Amino acid sequence: MNKVMSRPASHREGDTNDVTSPLRTCVSCRRHRQPDGLLRLQLMQGSLVMAAKRGGRGAHVCVKRECIKGLTAGSLSRALRVPVADLDTDALLCDANRLAQRRLLDTIGLARRQGALTPGVERIVKRNDSFVVVASDLSERGRRTLSGVPSFIEGHELGRAAGMGWLGAVSIAEPLAKQAAYWLTLWYESRSAQDASRCGVAPTPEHSKCSDGE
Ligand SMILES: [Zn+2]
Repeated sequence: MNKVMSRPASHREGDTNDVTSPLRTCVSCRRHRQPDGLLRLQLMQGSLVMAAKRGGRGAHVCVKRECIKGLTAGSLSRALRVPVADLDTDALLCDANRLAQRRLLDTIGLARRQGALTPGVERIVKRNDSFVVVASDLSERGRRTLSGVPSFIEGHELGRAAGMGWLGAVSIAEPLAKQAAYWLTLWYESRSAQDASRCGVAPTPEHSKCSDGE
């Protein structure tokens, strides 16, 4: 999902030693991070959206619930250089949750096409260089087999993403493992019972425009 950056690497304080991408500043906590650890916010037709696409002026925020909730209209207005009037952080969290779910499912599909996917509880061996996620409706026995593995959505949706039937678990090998872990982190950070009900009544802009480019 990285694009080659034309700007030279900068050497500010950050969370990683990798200096191949310029660091960005979270508009909420003001920490400098690699772009991969941040979400990009952009105004589209007057609405603030999570934009995976580059281009136009964007503001960055950590993949963290506290940073998304801590966004203010003032900090976003300064970063985007246009007034941001109606900031709704709950709607943004909904947005982030949907984006994360779709991106993780896309990553599972991509892993399948690249031969980097191991489907099914029985075949999965937990390894450091792979990312494992289990279905939310996996059986108790399956959970014991893969204890400590984070759960995601239902097995029929996991399976559909992989072009297969119901799946209790999938393992994704590098180089896609990191990407999958990133989206699951965002998915967890952006969900809660309150947000889920909120997401149902206040749909945020769809993300069909985010599917290309990364
Ligand atoms: Zn932050």
